[in-house]
Amino acid sequence: QAKNAAERDAVPYHPGLETGALHRKRLGMALRGAIEANELSVVYQPIVRASDLAIVSVEALVRWDSKEFGRVSPVDFIPVAEETGAIHDIGKFVFQRACQDMVDWPGLKMSINVSPAQLRDPSFANDLGAIARRHDVVPNRFKLELTEGLLVRNPTIAKRKLARLKSMGFGLSLDDFGTGFSSIGYLRQFPFDWLKIDKSFISELGSNPTANALIQSMIALGDAMDIAVVAEGIETVEQLQLLRLLQCEFVQGYYLAKPMPAAGITALLAELGESRRILPELDLGGY
Ligand code: C2E
Ligand code: MG
Ligand code: MG
Ligand code: MG
Repeated sequence: QAKNAAERDAVPYHPGLETGALHRKRLGMALRGAIEANELSVVYQPIVRASDLAIVSVEALVRWDSKEFGRVSPVDFIPVAEETGAIHDIGKFVFQRACQDMVDWPGLKMSINVSPAQLRDPSFANDLGAIARRHDVVPNRFKLELTEGLLVRNPTIAKRKLARLKSMGFGLSLDDFGTGFSSIGYLRQFPFDWLKIDKSFISELGSNPTANALIQSMIALGDAMDIAVVAEGIETVEQLQLLRLLQCEFVQGYYLAKPMPAAGITALLAELGESRRILPELDLGGY
């Protein structure tokens, strides 16, 4: 960490670069008090079974409404939080809030994004276990979403940590699949339950034959390894129907439902009734 900072400071003067570093520094300072100031919240995006469009799960996504900076995207502040160490408290805040909220959603599973820095924390697994117990939620309702970077950088440690989380009952999901560097053989060494095809592939579905072939092969890969495949970033009905045709098991994206506050999920479930089927007007026949 100190070395990174020193390296940054040693970079020759460059106005654009300095503005970026300065902005990150100011974000980092503002982020420190964000939890206490009630600026953080959690929204939930449904994950849907492709065959019958029933909501089976939600993904928790953190939001920051800063008094100083306005709404800041997690794409911008999560890396800063990793750098400053604030990610540990933010992660616990999100997990705790998710535990509270999901009490109103019986039968629904919950995906939680986990940064590499959190997994490196020696007390991470124990902390999650304690929070879940305190809220009386069983770990097997969760899937922890991790990205490939972490596995590639330190596979031995990652393997040990993931095995421990699995043994506690937590499910594991490989997020943003296809954007990293891990090979197929490599993937077999880790106990993932879900594989999430990155939205960059989905956005090209239907227009780029290579994307179609790649998605097909990822779905076949999941089948072969007995890992359920989730496609994220579905924005059109055409993408949805193509993925159903390709027998992708789960789907997620703005076309199905956008991320929403807990009350929105509660209202949606009440409206959908027992089937939990979203988009009732859509024709599911033919596939
Ligand atoms: P992710 O885990 O891959 O989450 C998916 C992102 O895509 C979310 O952005 C979601 O709002 C967005 N999304 C969902 N459907 C669509 C769609 O149809 N089209 C498009 N273009 N985007 C869609 P968001 O909420 O801005 O989060 C961005 C990233 O920040 C997440 O990517 C995740 O890596 C990270 N993140 C979010 N919340 C947390 C958290 O609580 N902890 C950690 N460690 N990371 C988080
Ligand atoms: Mg995710
Ligand atoms: Mg993703
Ligand atoms: Mg991501």
